[in-house]
Amino acid sequence: MQPKIREVQCKSILNKSGIQGVDFALNPYIGCEHGCLYCYAKFMKKYTGHAEPWGHFVDIKVNAREVLEKQLRRIGRKTIMLGTVTDAYQPIEQRTMLTRSLLMQLATKDLHLHIQTKSSLVLRDLELLTRFNDVEVCFTVITPDDADRVILEPRASSIRDRLRAVETLASQQVDVSVFIGPLIPFMSMGKILRLLKAVYNCGAKEILWDQLNYIRSNAGRLQSALRERYPRFAKTLPYASFDAYYDKADQVISEFCASRGIEGIGVKS
Ligand code: SF4
Repeated sequence: MQPKIREVQCKSILNKSGIQGVDFALNPYIGCEHGCLYCYAKFMKKYTGHAEPWGHFVDIKVNAREVLEKQLRRIGRKTIMLGTVTDAYQPIEQRTMLTRSLLMQLATKDLHLHIQTKSSLVLRDLELLTRFNDVEVCFTVITPDDADRVILEPRASSIRDRLRAVETLASQQVDVSVFIGPLIPFMSMGKILRLLKAVYNCGAKEILWDQLNYIRSNAGRLQSALRERYPRFAKTLPYASFDAYYDKADQVISEFCASRGIEGIGVKS
């Protein structure tokens, strides 16, 4: 099913952010083709008037460049996060190059840019990223297995492509980190370790992780999607407490990061 695409005008493109350590959120699109089952940004749909389900529409902020130009005149050295409620490198970006054009504006300014993505398309802008004084790319990778990814993040880049992108960015001295979030409790500790090793071997300088938030993530959809592959987990999902699981996962990830001398941060959202 092709996503429904619309062009919209925005009043503001740099919006104050409640995310710790981030001054402004920058989202070139509303909606996200990646269609992750646990997406925390689905609430954005209510502002769009779209009838299509989340993951099947994208609004392009066609005046984003002009608005950004004006807003950049008024802000000093701030931290901007690209992609807080959308993925700025979702498939449509290949055609519109809107994110790229915004990066070209940002590259001339003294600011800290944090890019959050699940797409290897970010490599298209590698040379541009190397022009920034202070930029960091954070890839979300929640599983080492592409069979999980196909269920949970159907239209995002494959795990292999994301890890290759981490490796490429790190090799070009771009700061790159990996966010394991949400950490979904079907992941055994062995599988978590497999992911940690892969991420570490690719050169990520920091690993962050977060728990699954049932309310935001739509437990019902996750339950039916995971029923075939993880029947035991799917059965217990709406009722079970995963406190002990997350305590163990915290320990495993923290110990791994400490043993490799890289930063490990458990995010509590
Ligand atoms: S990439 Fe992010 S914004 Fe896009 S659907 Fe997935 S979780 Fe939501």
